[in-house]
Formats: sequence, structure tokens, C-alpha cells
Amino acid sequence: CGIIGFSGRREAAPILIDGLKRLEYRGYDSSGLVTGTGGSLHLRKKAGRIAELAKEVAARPAPGTFGISHTRWATHGGATDRNAHPHFDTAGDIAVVHNGVIENHHTLRNQLQADGVEFRSETDTEVLAHLISHYYEGDLLAAVKHALALVKGTYGCAVVCRHDPGVIVGARLGSPLVIGIGPDGHYLASDANALAGYATQVVYLNDRQIFQLDQDSWVIRNQDLDTVDAPLQDIEHFLGG
Ligand code: GLU
Repeated sequence: CGIIGFSGRREAAPILIDGLKRLEYRGYDSSGLVTGTGGSLHLRKKAGRIAELAKEVAARPAPGTFGISHTRWATHGGATDRNAHPHFDTAGDIAVVHNGVIENHHTLRNQLQADGVEFRSETDTEVLAHLISHYYEGDLLAAVKHALALVKGTYGCAVVCRHDPGVIVGARLGSPLVIGIGPDGHYLASDANALAGYATQVVYLNDRQIFQLDQDSWVIRNQDLDTVDAPLQDIEHFLGG
């Protein structure tokens, strides 16, 4: 039910866990994160309280200076470790977190299974990971665009790929997402309040927009992948509201 992402010049996991705690008020039943170092992704996820995820990360650290994380409010599939986000493609190259509901997940799942894809969870979200993987040919943003074109439903989503260290791509339709800009890098959140103390400025995404960020840059594009002018706003504007 909430998303936090970071790419920058600090360890990502503590920022992600702190951000998830700030989103607790939205309600959730599980949480998880993936961080990246060079060509590896590190997945940790747990049903239950965010304290359980924090414990897991304390016992088995998730290193790296970029990552995405999620609090889940289950709509498809029970509140289990396995169904917690992030979800991966078969090769383990692409990880996805998603808020919302993919209404045509059943049709998409059947098509992917007919192509030989084996599913690891009961979630609607997992189809996204496999679809993005299907379209990925070195350009994550283009792959996300093509995958989302097949999706009916709602999403705020964020994606990382083992082959694109530091890069986070995502999009929204009917589920809020905001990019944060701070001295240590770039952030992503489903609520600007979660970025207080980290980001100094925020940019809101509109429906059907796709973004890409890394530690040095960010860009928002429309469905045709044209760059969109998006106004930067001081984060103070939103706090406490
Ligand atoms: N529909 C997804 C699931 O059940 C995402 C739920 C959410 O928004 O947290 O896993």
C-alpha cells in the first residue's frame, strides 16, 4: 500500500526501512525491499510488521546505494512472505513493487504460463515482473512502457534491473507517486510526508506518466516517452498536511 525508493550516495536499506515506517499509517500486512550493488540485487521480504523486515535486514544486510521497497495491503493472494513485494522475473534480473490492482492479471498470467513462465506467488503484481522481462532488451524504461500498455487496472509501481545499477523506473495510474530531490540523491514515495528530512524538493507524477531516476538525474515522460515538464515544489509545502 506504500512505496519508497532511493538512489544516491548513501546506503539505501536504512532509508527504505525508515520510509516504510513513515507509511505505516496507510495500513499494510507485509513489507519488503530490494537493494542493488553493481550487478546484484538483494531481496528481503516478510509478512507482518515492518519491525520483522528490519530484523531480517539486521540479520542479513541488504547492501547497496539504490533500492525500492513496499508495504503491501493484499488484494490478490494471502499475506505471506512469498506474496510480499518485491516480485521478480524468472531470471531474477528485474524486481517490481506495485500498489493497486491489475484487473486483467488472470488473462496475462495465462498467456505468460502458455509461454512457459512459472509463477512464484499468488499476486496480480507478479505478471508485471514477467511482462517487463519479456520486453526488456537493454532499455528498462521502454520495457516498462510496453508492459504497462497491456495492463488494465491501477498502479503506482517501481522497477529495478540487475543490468542497470542505480536506475529506478516507475509509473502511476490511479495510485499516487512523488519523486524527491535531496542532497544525497533521488527518492520515490507514495506520500511526500515520508520524504521529510531527506528530500528538499518534490515532483508529483500524473496518471500515465513514467519516470526514470538515478543518483544524479531524474526525468518524467508521457506514454509516448516524450519528456514532460514537471514543476519542482519545495517539500515544506506538503508537510504536516
Ligand atoms: N494487488 C497487489 C497485491 O495484492 C498490491 C496490493 C497493494 O497495493 O499493496 O499484492
